[in-house]
Amino acid sequence: MFNEVEGTRNESFDDDVINLRIKCSKRENEPTNDQLKSLLSILEVSEESYLWDVKVGIWNALGIKNEPIKLKKERQSILNRSFNNAADIPILRNKEGELLLTKLGLPFSSTKRDLELGIMNYIKSNPVSNQKKALPKGNKKPESKTVEVTQYIRDKEVIKWILNNSVGTCECCQEVAPFYRNDGTFFLEVHHVRGLADSGSDTIQNTVAVCPNCHRNLHSGENRKSLKELMYSRVSRLIVE
Ligand SMILES: [Zn+2]
Ligand SMILES: [Zn+2]
Repeated sequence: MFNEVEGTRNESFDDDVINLRIKCSKRENEPTNDQLKSLLSILEVSEESYLWDVKVGIWNALGIKNEPIKLKKERQSILNRSFNNAADIPILRNKEGELLLTKLGLPFSSTKRDLELGIMNYIKSNPVSNQKKALPKGNKKPESKTVEVTQYIRDKEVIKWILNNSVGTCECCQEVAPFYRNDGTFFLEVHHVRGLADSGSDTIQNTVAVCPNCHRNLHSGENRKSLKELMYSRVSRLIVE
């Protein structure tokens, strides 16, 4: 959920103010402001809030009793910040920085990046506000329903050939299969590069052996289109359909 922000990783606490950086605008190939939105929802801070409110939210989530220190910059609102790809929450190095490091059990030699990750991980794993919220009840005896599905008759020989040909290595990420099946063979799945429902053929020129992660990624990942292109360029037996 919380991704790295360039440029903050190796900075140390040399300045008077540490800017705790949170991604908040969308650029290509970068996380969307969903990241900020999740943080705000965990902290129970509204999207119309100011950086100051986020800071107070972090203080509450970490269970810190002292009031955070208010700086001018914190009057800026969080969203719609197109000039910059991040929201910076200023934290005073001596007072607040040390308080946060102590709270998180981090050494004083930590970098800004360590502090940022420490806060994010703490909030993720100890969401004070989440504990207050009711957890979903679920269903002890879920009802069942019968649904009609279209299944394609797949050629077992194609599956066998593709799996044998892969020698246990995913043709997408090129890593060895993550685990074995019950019978001791590598767990890889056969994926149709052009889907059967999309009139793709059930041939070795349209199928690849992929690990479960890549398989989900090829079907549901945000970069599925470029992954598909990658498969075509990487696997020479494939023919574009
Ligand atoms: Zn893979
Ligand atoms: Zn598939």
